[in-house]
Amino acid sequence: MPKVLIVGAGGVGSVVAHKCAQVPELFSHIVLASRTLSKCEAIAAEVKKRWGREIITAALDADDTAQTVSLIQAHSPDLLINVALPYQDLTLMDACLETGVDYLDTANYEPPDQARFEYKWQWAYQDRFKEKKLMALLGSGFDPGVTNVFCAWAQKHHFDEIHQLDIIDCNAGDHGQAFATNFNPEINIREITQPGRYWERGEWVETDPLSWSMNYEFPGGIGSKKCFLMYHEELESLVQNLRGIKRARFWMTFSDQYLTHLRVLENVGMTRIDPVEYQGQKIVPLQFLKAVLPEPSSLGPLTKGQTCIGCLMKGIKDGKAKTLYVYNICSHEAAYEEVGSQAISYTTGVPAMIGAMMMLKKKWHGQGVWNMEQLDPDPFMEALNIHGLPWQAEEIK
Ligand code: NDP
Repeated sequence: MPKVLIVGAGGVGSVVAHKCAQVPELFSHIVLASRTLSKCEAIAAEVKKRWGREIITAALDADDTAQTVSLIQAHSPDLLINVALPYQDLTLMDACLETGVDYLDTANYEPPDQARFEYKWQWAYQDRFKEKKLMALLGSGFDPGVTNVFCAWAQKHHFDEIHQLDIIDCNAGDHGQAFATNFNPEINIREITQPGRYWERGEWVETDPLSWSMNYEFPGGIGSKKCFLMYHEELESLVQNLRGIKRARFWMTFSDQYLTHLRVLENVGMTRIDPVEYQGQKIVPLQFLKAVLPEPSSLGPLTKGQTCIGCLMKGIKDGKAKTLYVYNICSHEAAYEEVGSQAISYTTGVPAMIGAMMMLKKKWHGQGVWNMEQLDPDPFMEALNIHGLPWQAEEIK
């Protein structure tokens, strides 16, 4: 029976553990390892309480490939699910190569000293994974992840060519805190403070950070929200894999309160990622900021409202223009009720579990490094409806 090793016991790791525990016929053995053992133990106790399943826990510094290799050798998993931080992607991929284990993650590698979002470091593992006959699935969260699958499904069933893609990510929830991020604050703030970038007729166009916005009318009673253009990693692979794509953009909603706090933090230097000297030691201001902000996993009981993440696609089918919007709405309260987490962790953790399911059932099977839209979207789309992230597809006339 398959065994999985989940690395990372934060907001997303907790959801992955709960969702894997809900499918005992597939995930018969679950090991959860992270830097802080007590966080793994707290998740394991909650999983036991809710689902009656035992999961094994272990302390692990995933920056240290040798430690991961020893842990893998001790437990012999079939798949490593990386829901630690993007900084650990390469060391964990190295450990998988050394031990002959398949790999899955939800965010592309970033060097700690540069906020760069590129697949080049992980795509460079292509030949090594092929040589070892192993599979690495990149970006199996919501965005990247489900958004890539929505595009692949639309391309397969609804379009001859997709010409314009807008991925629109709305968190209409409210956690009542003056300032908090819904996933790891360091990774989140690095991403948001970068210049925007979108694809237009064969090249990348750069914009000043959060300088372009639009209002979008969201379904499910959410209504009109202001969305800001950002660069997001799935654009890099989608522009290579969508037939006929001419323009691809990514948008995210932010409240005025969030943006005001962010602007102040940036202006006073608290979002810097270079080390500064403080009382005889070097500290990275953004890492210090992370230490004083609420943990994403603590926002579960506080967050009310919904998320709506989807893909708006324009293209042609049988010579006629067509516009399709594919989206999911997820309730923060329902996610908390089910697994004790807010919807951002939930919408990331569920697709990580489904990606693992696709690989373990060999519905997604291949050698080398894969982005989500390169695989058959149908079984994944079906599993989303079953495992907590039902989707809608609406043709817009
Ligand atoms: P958290 O900060 O809540 O959790 C990260 C976990 O990783 C923590 O438990 C942390 O340990 C652990 N960790 C960090 N460094 C190491 C290390 N060297 N060795 C072992 N464990 C380590 O983050 P989230 O759960 O919110 O996010 C997890 C991942 O999901 C991130 O990569 C994020 O970018 C990605 N994500 C992807 C999304 C998508 O849609 N694709 C959306 C949201 C997030 P400790 O507790 O000791 O700090």
